[in-house]
Amino acid sequence: SAELNIEEIRKDFPILDAKVYGKRLVYLDNGATSQKPVQVLETLDNYYKEYNSNVHRGVHLLSQVATEAYEAARKKVASFINAKHDHEVIFTRGTTESINLVASSFGKLALKKGDEVLISAMEHHSNIVPWQMICEDKEAVLKVIPMNTNGELLMDEFASLLTDKVKIVSVTYISNSLGTINPVKEIINQAHAKNIPVLLDVAQAIQHVPIDVQELDVDFIAFSGHKIYGPTGIGVLYGKEEWLNKMPPYQGGGDMIKTVTFAKTIYNDLPYKFEAGTPDVAGAIGLSAAIDYVNNLGLENIQQAEHELLKYAMKKLSEVDGLRFIGNAKEHASLVSFLVRDIHPFDTGDILDKQGIAVRTGHHCTQPVMDFFGIPGTVRASFAFYNTKEEVDLLAAGIEKAVMMLS
Ligand code: PMP
Repeated sequence: SAELNIEEIRKDFPILDAKVYGKRLVYLDNGATSQKPVQVLETLDNYYKEYNSNVHRGVHLLSQVATEAYEAARKKVASFINAKHDHEVIFTRGTTESINLVASSFGKLALKKGDEVLISAMEHHSNIVPWQMICEDKEAVLKVIPMNTNGELLMDEFASLLTDKVKIVSVTYISNSLGTINPVKEIINQAHAKNIPVLLDVAQAIQHVPIDVQELDVDFIAFSGHKIYGPTGIGVLYGKEEWLNKMPPYQGGGDMIKTVTFAKTIYNDLPYKFEAGTPDVAGAIGLSAAIDYVNNLGLENIQQAEHELLKYAMKKLSEVDGLRFIGNAKEHASLVSFLVRDIHPFDTGDILDKQGIAVRTGHHCTQPVMDFFGIPGTVRASFAFYNTKEEVDLLAAGIEKAVMMLS
């Protein structure tokens, strides 16, 4: 692996030069969304200026060019996650829609009264609520793998929860509020030993760790383009062909059909069966450009740079008097969640904001995690490869200032 030239890389991200309140932006909210390199912005611009057209429909040239670019984006995603078939990649609006698709469609296929769906104690609301909805519909039961106070899943408990009643396990690879990296390979192996499929929410993983769906042997993964330096409005559901072929469509409309009569509709083949309506063509092409960008840097190099930042941030922030980390898992991604003394996280975030430092505060769409720790929320700084140690220093100094002002 090679060391990334961060100074050069930062030039690809125009927004990193932005000023907020007259101060240079220090963007540490990458877990919420990442910034976009010019390579992605120019791809979007070029699409709309040069060949904007609807896909899979027109006989005309631009429609063909747009269709080819859209399908090339699907191939790009498939090879990025090492899917066996391109048609196992379904474009969605994002992680949320991908999980809703599986919950609804797999739920209709496989859930009956008394069956169970197994999630974990650290799920994002988008991997809780869709399952609650389908469980309510089907009179199935939602079960939760508990965690310890470091924010690590209790794998013994997982093993005993994995009964014959469980029809699917749906867990996050990396926790967005704690930073925990879960032992997903072990989870998949144990579930598969009982023929139970597994969905991984990789919204916080796809931009940080290499993911090989065949090596993991995972049944479904869900992620959002906007967290991996691509545009908003585009996301991915990967599903094994065997499952996707069995599952009923999620939405009905154009493109997802072969023939329609008022008596009966014949559904289209994969992937179109799950892509009703005009898709986010620009988004898919933009995501493809983002994947090129990441591939060009190398995920291993990205991982190494972010690990360095994490180590530095942990050391630097642990020197702040009265700061405690929430989430102390051994396997930890490049984000830190913390509280300072008895200061409300929103107040810390507000003072940081006025210094140009963008962090996220609150429950991070994981209210059950906050309830577990008995806290109202945390301050979260989440790093990308383009962040610097100097920015971590500014964060630490900003927190010290908040402490001075508020205690
Ligand atoms: N799961 C996790 C772990 C996340 O961090 C997020 C985004 N915060 C989501 C799901 C939802 O992603 P989106 O809002 O892009 O659909």
